[in-house]
Amino acid sequence: MHAVGIVAAAGSGLRLGSDRPKALVHLAGRPLVAWAVETLLTGGAHDVVVAVPVEHRDEFAAALPGVRLVEGGATRTASVRAALAAVDTRAVAVLVHDAARPLTPPDVVRRVLAALEAGARAVVPVLPVVDTTVAVGPDGRITGALPREAIRRVQTPQGFHRRTLDEAYRRLPATAELTDDAAVVHTIGVPVQTVEGDERAAKITVAHDLALAEAQVGW
Ligand code: C5P
Repeated sequence: MHAVGIVAAAGSGLRLGSDRPKALVHLAGRPLVAWAVETLLTGGAHDVVVAVPVEHRDEFAAALPGVRLVEGGATRTASVRAALAAVDTRAVAVLVHDAARPLTPPDVVRRVLAALEAGARAVVPVLPVVDTTVAVGPDGRITGALPREAIRRVQTPQGFHRRTLDEAYRRLPATAELTDDAAVVHTIGVPVQTVEGDERAAKITVAHDLALAEAQVGW
């Protein structure tokens, strides 16, 4: 199956306390985005397109020699939309990954691809929720408990049949802002298959997450 990876890397580093884009922040001497690109290629993607903030394009080009870059948007949804438009016409599958998940093991990519090859049109890696999970009202009081057995944490890369993802983005209003691509295909009623995620694919959001990732690679 000819699969192309998209890496959403156009976000800021604000919550990480960085004045550079988060994807350029180093983990063990390499920018987060370089780790994410390598995971996709090692896991089976034939090629990768990376959405970057336009004002930092040169730094991304230096960090990712030979990798196709596109100008990202103001939201993750807009960034993925821009990268999708640049995906090779030969691709029958697209894997959308966050630059912010640098230590995702390539086996997660392989599981997603295997589920696509087995016939799923949309696939996401997920993990169980181990904590008691509750809903809280605006006053800070618990309004109810959520059945954690039925809840999952969703990771990336998320895999799609290319035509399915193209159609979902074509029908999605230009201003729509969704936090992942499973939510995008859900808007056109596509069933989304889950496969097992991996704790090592954790998202780096705040400085503590980066410290944990550094410990993970023995830095
Ligand atoms: O902000 P958050 O960590 O949830 O972003 C998830 C991913 O989406 C990150 O890898 C980030 O670089 C990317 N993103 C993007 N374009 C934006 C905002 C976020 O590509 N405008």
